[in-house]
Parts: sequence; C-alpha cells; structure tokens
Amino acid sequence: MASASRQESEETFNSRMSTAGLKFGGRFKPSDCKARNKVAIVVPYRDRKFHLKIFLRYIHPFLQRQQLEYAIVVVEQSDNLPFNRGLLMNIGFKEAQKQDRFQCFIFHDVDLLPENDGNTYACPEVGKPRQMAFSIDIYDYKPTPIDHFGGVSAFSTFDFRRVNGFSNVFFGWGSEDDDLYRRLLHHNLTVTRMHNLNTSTIVRYRMFDHQVAEPNPDRMRLFDQGTRRLEFDGLVDLRYRRLSVKFKPLYTHIIVDVQPQIHKTQSYQTKNE
Ligand code: UDP
Ligand code: MN
Repeated sequence: MASASRQESEETFNSRMSTAGLKFGGRFKPSDCKARNKVAIVVPYRDRKFHLKIFLRYIHPFLQRQQLEYAIVVVEQSDNLPFNRGLLMNIGFKEAQKQDRFQCFIFHDVDLLPENDGNTYACPEVGKPRQMAFSIDIYDYKPTPIDHFGGVSAFSTFDFRRVNGFSNVFFGWGSEDDDLYRRLLHHNLTVTRMHNLNTSTIVRYRMFDHQVAEPNPDRMRLFDQGTRRLEFDGLVDLRYRRLSVKFKPLYTHIIVDVQPQIHKTQSYQTKNE
C-alpha cells in the first residue's frame, strides 16, 4: 500500500515537473524567451540527503524566476576517502561538457540557499569570476574576507579552463578555495562581488546547520606548495572512475570513485619533499 502510493505520488510529481518545463537531468529552458546563456550548476555531494532534497526544491523555482537556461549537476563521491570538494567540481565541469555547451559554471555547496531573487545566477563576464556567497546568516551576514572564495562562485567556462580549475590534492576540509583564489590572481582575473551598500542584502545566503567537517591536517603545507602545481594539478590531470550518470527528474547525478587521484597526490608530495 505504502509503496503504491509512493509510486503514484512520484508519477504525479514527474508530470508536474514536466509541465513546469523541467527536463530530465534537472534541465530547464524558458519557453517564452531565449536565455542569453546556458549555466551549469555543479554541486559536490556525499551523504547530505536532507540538504540536497531541500536545495533542489528551492533552487529550481529560484533559477526559473530568473529565466535562465540551466542544468543541475550533482557529483557524488562514492569512495571512503576524505571528501574532495575541488576534485568533484573539476569532474562536474568536465562531465557537464559531455552533455552540452555551457557558457558558464556556478560551483555551489549544497547547504547554501540564496535568499533574494535579485542575486543573479546569470553568467559572469569572461575575465571576471564572481564570488557569490559572502554574506551568510550563520556569520550574522558579515561579509567574509575579501580573499574568501568558497561556498558559491561563478566562472565563465573559458576562465575556469584558463586557471586549470581547482587543485585536485585537497582531501578533507579546507584550503581548496584559497588555492583557487590564488589561481585567479595568478591569471590576473578580477573577482567581482556585489557588496556595496545597495546590494549587500541582495546577496545574502542561508546555510543549513551541519557538523563541522574534519579539517585536512596537510592543508597548509599543500597550500604553501600550491604555486608549484598550478600548471599540472587541476583540470589537465583528473583521475577518477565514473561509476554512473543518471538523468533524474531534478538533477543529473554523477557518481564517481576518486581513488585513482590519491596516488597522484601522494606522488606530488614525495616529489616536493
Ligand atoms: N560536502 C558533502 N558531504 C560532505 C562534505 C562536504 O556533500 O561530507 C559538500 C557539500 O556540498 C557542502 C560542501 O561540500 O556544502 C562544503 O563542505 P562543508 O559544508 O562541510 O564546508 P563548510 O561549510 O564547513 O566550509
Ligand atoms: Mn557548509
């Protein structure tokens, strides 16, 4: 009985989504206008089912109100290694481009929700990546430091490729975002933020409560050595096993095993010592 009603509600749900214009894989295209750009939203993920569920229900209507053409790509790390946010973003970038031509990418933590429709998720200009989540409720909306580049950030496809993406070596919490920021500076890109008095309430985010993750004890050392790795550690050197790609009603779900990358990371460490 319970499973029959679940099936029924899923069908109703699917047809409701298709009449709302949503295509399988969590894709959308406005029907009454032509969107300027195609945006891929990449979400790194493992074991935060509840966050993902709320995120998806919230973000689709939000993006549709902005009349964007977009796809939601969730990249799930299936192995038991420490979580590697940067590597999953890089994988999302690469895999999404096998599906379509996206002009830009928004790299988005699953636990952050934009509060205001005026916070644009449209593509940033080439040369000007946009740091989006810098006013968050749990920090009393105080702007995060100017060199903070985590949470939610947007890149033209051209720029993300130009900086060679994230570093792949940060297993466990911390420093992959700082390393990305250094890559931007290295390539003379200008980071934009909407943070003057008029816009400061527009860019607010709400963050779900969650346990503080285990910091990576090696993160400072890896960060300090990061300039030596700019060229060869990143998009040009991705190692993973793609276990599945599923086009679900609300998102494209890519499951990966990143075990192959760790051997590479260890070889960098011995090389640098
Ligand atoms: N994440 C995840 N599972 C984990 C750790 C991280 O899905 O076990 C993803 C999730 O998208 C999360 C993001 O990585 O929002 C950043 O991690 P976290 O929220 O722990 O970092 P913090 O907010 O503490 O900087
Ligand atoms: Mn978080």
